[in-house]
Amino acid sequence: MKNIYINILVILLIIILHQQIFSFGDTSSNSVYGEYTFVRQDYFGQNDEYETPFFVFKGSEPGPVMILDGGIHGDEIASYMACDTIVKYINLKKGTLIVIPRTNIIACKQNTREINFDFNHAFPGDITNDTYEYRLAYEFMWLVDSVKPDLIINLHEAHTKWTPKALTDPEKAYGQIVISCIQPFEELLVRSVDNMNQFIPAGDFTFHTHYYSFKEYSSLDNFVSKFNIKSYTVETYRGFAIEDRVKLQLIAALQFMKEIGLEFYIPDSITKFK
Ligand SMILES: [Zn+2]
Repeated sequence: MKNIYINILVILLIIILHQQIFSFGDTSSNSVYGEYTFVRQDYFGQNDEYETPFFVFKGSEPGPVMILDGGIHGDEIASYMACDTIVKYINLKKGTLIVIPRTNIIACKQNTREINFDFNHAFPGDITNDTYEYRLAYEFMWLVDSVKPDLIINLHEAHTKWTPKALTDPEKAYGQIVISCIQPFEELLVRSVDNMNQFIPAGDFTFHTHYYSFKEYSSLDNFVSKFNIKSYTVETYRGFAIEDRVKLQLIAALQFMKEIGLEFYIPDSITKFK
């Protein structure tokens, strides 16, 4: 009699385990079987204090590779909320997309810009340094060097909104800009900003191209100068309502994905302004 109970228990356990394993594969409610592949969740700093998850999506067709990062500054919340939305809904058909929603995860958890110092000043990083920001920057550079993406988009937010005066200020970042450290602006940047603005109500929300002078310690400048990879930084204005900021970040990120040649499905409703 006892054996029967044990057998039933084992069968129940197998059923539960089976369901857990096979429900894990489907990360998108809009997926069509065979159209996309979710490769894996990976980490920076595995077993280190800053263990940081990131997500690798690979379409069924080979194509361009893009990295999208948010949360380099932990209090720029629209950046990682937009990344979370893409991770949740993206159905990638062609190319590879790597999303790092909370790059500086310790700062994100505390909703603060930085912990020991500005993480965006820690590049190209140092894996032997006692301060985690340098180790994290090194790992980010290592990832970029490993996958050699066609484009890296960095999502940020700013306290000051763009005005025409910003056009002559290469030492400051503003809200509603897309930053390049290269002049003249690359055609990909100009075209992408023009096209993203087609989805945005005219006026305050409009994005502007912006030249920010080269900084040897910053992420963007290291991606561009060390690896010759195109990289731009999107800044939304923190004075706007959070739901608008997330939509603006999404419109910018998705537009760059389209322009670089990724093919994907994502519901229109996540970027619709009322
Ligand atoms: Zn920032």
